[in-house]
Amino acid sequence: MRTKYIAGNWKMHKTVGEAVSLADALVKALAGEKGKKLMVAPPFTALAAVGPRLRGSPLLLGAQNAGPEEQGAHTGEVSVLMLKDLGVKVVILGHSERRHVYQEPNELINAKVRLALRHGLEVILCVGETQAERDGGVTGSVVEDQLLSGLREVSEADLDRVTVAYEPVWAIGTGKTATPADADEVHRHIRTVIARRYGARSAESLLIQYGGSVKPANAAELMAKESIDGFLVGGAALTPETFVPIVQFEKGR
Ligand code: PEP
Repeated sequence: MRTKYIAGNWKMHKTVGEAVSLADALVKALAGEKGKKLMVAPPFTALAAVGPRLRGSPLLLGAQNAGPEEQGAHTGEVSVLMLKDLGVKVVILGHSERRHVYQEPNELINAKVRLALRHGLEVILCVGETQAERDGGVTGSVVEDQLLSGLREVSEADLDRVTVAYEPVWAIGTGKTATPADADEVHRHIRTVIARRYGARSAESLLIQYGGSVKPANAAELMAKESIDGFLVGGAALTPETFVPIVQFEKGR
């Protein structure tokens, strides 16, 4: 049995004060939560304030991105060393908004993945197809390419600190959720690709999250699929009223 891993991506939302209020509410509501892995990724500007509020709680501190180098002339970028300094444990890389809005290619994402792992962080590597790619019947090859390129030169030992998030681009922030069957099919494909590259043991233990318009109303049926190990949640991670019931998905069954 793999651990269920539910992460909230706050994206470009929340001032420092708002982020602290949300963190405090989540810590209070989820204090007794056991046996699941939980993470929230506030905006960079709120990491320093939110980190201390999560201490002693089941919530890990995550970041939404990181630069590809330790330091240097990279205006606007944030280094993994700076994130570690703030107590960040996990970094989300290759999010579709980074890939498609900010044109991050697989090679850049791979450089970020390797750097984050080299410095001891955990990584959530996001993969997923666009609507046109799904319509064109190339979902499997797109996801496989994003996976293998993103994990280039990542060792089997380091893969233990990688979670894959399958996030179909057409389902992110759109209200359209992949059906449990659609998500299951791609999750199984991801596990097959990982088994081919790293072996059956690694594939079996890899956590694969689903992301794309997850809400309290669909969390339980998605999580009922054996291949779905958790969620990366965007919009519904912004309030305790929507995030807490997703974390406690089993109550909605
Ligand atoms: C996301 O940003 O990773 C995401 C899945 O967003 P939403 O839940 O809003 O679709």
